[in-house]
Amino acid sequence: MSRYPIYLTSEQEEELRKVANAIVAPGKGILAADEPPGTMAQRFACIGVESTEENRRRYREMLFTTDAAISENISGVIFHHETLYQKTKDGVPFVKLLADKNIIPGIKVDKGFADLAGTDGETTTQGLDGLAERCAQYKKDGAQFAKWRCALKIGPHTPSHLAMMENANVLARYASICQQNGLVPIVEPEVLYNGDHDLQTAQKVTEQVLAYQYKALSDHHVFLEGTLLKPNMVTSGQSCSDKSTPEQNARATVQAFSRTIPAAMPGVVFLSGGQSEEESTLNLNAINQCPGKKSWALSFSFGRALQATVIRAWKGDDANIEQAQKMFLARAKANGLASLGKYKPVTLSSTEKESLFVAKNEY
Ligand code: 13P
Repeated sequence: MSRYPIYLTSEQEEELRKVANAIVAPGKGILAADEPPGTMAQRFACIGVESTEENRRRYREMLFTTDAAISENISGVIFHHETLYQKTKDGVPFVKLLADKNIIPGIKVDKGFADLAGTDGETTTQGLDGLAERCAQYKKDGAQFAKWRCALKIGPHTPSHLAMMENANVLARYASICQQNGLVPIVEPEVLYNGDHDLQTAQKVTEQVLAYQYKALSDHHVFLEGTLLKPNMVTSGQSCSDKSTPEQNARATVQAFSRTIPAAMPGVVFLSGGQSEEESTLNLNAINQCPGKKSWALSFSFGRALQATVIRAWKGDDANIEQAQKMFLARAKANGLASLGKYKPVTLSSTEKESLFVAKNEY
């Protein structure tokens, strides 16, 4: 008999594997729409709209009622708790609206950052208490995958061993709990874009963080085939004077990943992290065009880089819904093509080129 008890049945494993693979089907990625109310207040500030529950509902209704063609490039949506239970003005639950378009609903389950005392401003992420019960309920309510974000910052003395170990472990524990409750865990150990570090530093730190991450996932017996990874792209820091090109970023990213991510893991869904819409798409395209062994799908799970122009087009006014949905379709299409390495740069608006960096970005 095996020394290790089997904790997922083969049916459970198969279900997780199927969902994870469906999310990273060719040309498809995720819309991260799980901004908490406070972050929506920042996003809405540029259009002068107040972040009330009703305005957030109206905004998300606009996104989710986009033509079914959106499902050619969007396979899943990450909800915030509030949004999972919201409905259209005509009473259709958002979960049903998306499921009818063959889009898989997901849910953010972490409860935000907490300081790691004694470190240089590093954090862990909270939310393990009661997580199994919450996951079981979310699964009943239609979610099929989950997200938990940890953040590590690059500085002269960071990330520390403590921060890398703690964040890797909390993500692994979360992943195990999700899988036991039928949700595919998206594991997000984000190395922040903040700082003036160069590309080489970003690559080394990303490799270290991912090495800690996959050791912890192995220690926790997580079923890798039923997980997805949501990392940063490897780029020079936001305020680095020597900005790396998409081709350089792609080489560094693919090299870092090939050194650290097991081939059993089906897909990488990048966060955009404060890059402009244009940069995110160009980098994703270059990563997919980069020669070299790539054992996983390389796609997107963008928040800001899929929504910045959409919010500006919407402006909180129902009269602009059609135009905003057109922008959403265009950004989704561009990133779908980039996830295949087939994006051809076009002339973009100034908003699409605008940096979306926020020093303290909360999800
Ligand atoms: P950004 O693409 O805006 O970085 O957000 C993705 C996300 O979900 C971070 O958790």
